[in-house]
Amino acid sequence: MSQRGLVIDSLEFARRHETLTGRLGLDVLPRLADSLFDATGSLDYEVTGETDGRNAFLRVKLEGVLSLTCQRCLGALAYDLSQRSRMMLVESGAPWPEDGQQGGLEDEACDAIEASRELDLVPLLEEEILLALPIAPRHERCKPPSAATVSGEASPFAQLAALKRK
Ligand SMILES: [Zn+2]
Repeated sequence: MSQRGLVIDSLEFARRHETLTGRLGLDVLPRLADSLFDATGSLDYEVTGETDGRNAFLRVKLEGVLSLTCQRCLGALAYDLSQRSRMMLVESGAPWPEDGQQGGLEDEACDAIEASRELDLVPLLEEEILLALPIAPRHERCKPPSAATVSGEASPFAQLAALKRK
């Protein structure tokens, strides 16, 4: 499927309670590339429009497996991504939510974004993926690449043994 066509009239989309689902190829997400071991995978997305009183929202769901780079062994690390988020659409010119209000800075469950008649969902979904990634992904058990060759030599016991032999 083409990655184009992910441009929506955001407020209309929300007011009509529309839903858009599809699959996003990782190779079209330039900002994500640095975090990936390889960009061969894809993520399933679902964007749903919602309204609550006068407010309009987009609900975003992202699911898939990413191939990240382990920060210890530098090998590939399969990471199950499952991200849910909700964004409040703020009409351009309308007041931005105050810190303590829904969609405000303190509302961790809901970010405010500016509504647009031509909102491109790809950068928005990419941002959500980046937010969901671990800062330093690591395998539960792995060794740095050089560990195999110096195994044992660096242990304090080996060093002590070496001292005693002198
Ligand atoms: Zn590792």
